[in-house]
Amino acid sequence: MEVACNDCGHVHKFIVDVSNFSGFVCVNCHSYFKGTTLATLTFVKKFDVPKILQWAKLNESIQFKRMNYRIITKILRRTTTGAYGNEYVGLNNGSKNTIYLADGVDYTSVLYAISKKKLIVTPDNFCKFERGNYELEYTDRQHVIYAEGFVFEDLDAESTVKTYIRTIDEDRFISEEFIDDDIEYYQGSYIDEKAYFSLFDFFKDYKSKSDLVGGKFKKLGVILVLLIASIFLALNFKQIGSDVYTFDETFKVKKARNEFIGTSFELKGEVSKTLLLEGISEAKNYPLFLEIKLVNEKTNAVIQTSSFVHEDNDINYARGLTVDFCRIEPGIYHLVFVTSLSNASRDMEFDVELSEDYKLTYGGTSYFILISFLVGIIILLWVYRYWSLELKNKDFLVRLDRVNLINVLKFKGLGLVLIVFVAAFIAITVLINSSTSCKTTISTNTLEDHTYTGSRGHYYRSYYNEDGSGHK
Ligand SMILES: [Zn+2]
Repeated sequence: MEVACNDCGHVHKFIVDVSNFSGFVCVNCHSYFKGTTLATLTFVKKFDVPKILQWAKLNESIQFKRMNYRIITKILRRTTTGAYGNEYVGLNNGSKNTIYLADGVDYTSVLYAISKKKLIVTPDNFCKFERGNYELEYTDRQHVIYAEGFVFEDLDAESTVKTYIRTIDEDRFISEEFIDDDIEYYQGSYIDEKAYFSLFDFFKDYKSKSDLVGGKFKKLGVILVLLIASIFLALNFKQIGSDVYTFDETFKVKKARNEFIGTSFELKGEVSKTLLLEGISEAKNYPLFLEIKLVNEKTNAVIQTSSFVHEDNDINYARGLTVDFCRIEPGIYHLVFVTSLSNASRDMEFDVELSEDYKLTYGGTSYFILISFLVGIIILLWVYRYWSLELKNKDFLVRLDRVNLINVLKFKGLGLVLIVFVAAFIAITVLINSSTSCKTTISTNTLEDHTYTGSRGHYYRSYYNEDGSGHK
């Protein structure tokens, strides 16, 4: 059966023969004609093409429950509450059976027309059909905003639809439609979204594009991981390497209050780097207050820790000591260990012995931010990938003319999100590297003396393991 548009001349070829229609809408120029025969079709108006995608195509073949149907009608309606709903009519050529496929924001369903006589509608908003009880759930007023193919109603008229849901398991419903002063009844089943959309040719297109888009996300992940790692390397290039200095010093005097000067050392490099002291501090007297000063020998600038106290810890004389001096400029420095006894006056004669055994690490970079951002970018892309391939975002995929990275970056502002993400990584890295306001911190801990002899020869700090001398 062929229908030539009276307006643009486009010829529509249908495999099936359609009768009892009340109008036709041209797929090419969107002109709407009224008339019950092809000869009497009269132009009414032109529809605007909506942004909402309709998955069926006119004359498309649909297989459902071993029956083959050809799509003869596509209609898009909008309810007074603003919800959109698609309806596609399929006709079987031999048996003349008709199938109705309907989808909206939150449903996908298949309907068949049923005889008014087989249905009992009761005034208390219930109806009965083939021993099933259905309860009225929704009443919608709606009008047609777009159509293609044969139509069986006045597209300019508003219609009302009452939906009765089966009371037992709610997967079936009765649709009572008030159209053109007539009432029509349909029985519908809600079907799985994937089962519904896979009925249409578009689904193959959707599947192949979703595979391509998935591949693009993997590519994007590799690009971004490399980009972030490169930025990290570039921004931290001068401080990735670190120098280590070790000292073992013992100071003995006969005064409680004293300043012991450590050996000079040179911190080499071009930029300020972190300086970390890890060591063992041992005093034969307690409670002995200890402060550590880092002195720049050229400028005499002093960086000082807060004081800590050597207390009697019942196990041994030593304390593990960790001082983060924050960012220090290159130069020649020495440490000063300032001691005082709380219970001794300034000049009191007193045998003080202090041993400082420490390792200084200059430079090195924390990989925490890098790792956090790398993990973040993988999670972000994974979420976007999952999101873009969800069936509810099928229109995004179907509308893509070509699948490329640019198109993928346009999905829900992904490109912008990634720019913000990378910018945040650069900003945080630069901020950390240029920060001079970080605080010098000191922390101490009681050392295990696993021989319980109190001998300093057995104090243990794990980092000495690296040198193969776990037990000094
Ligand atoms: Zn036309």
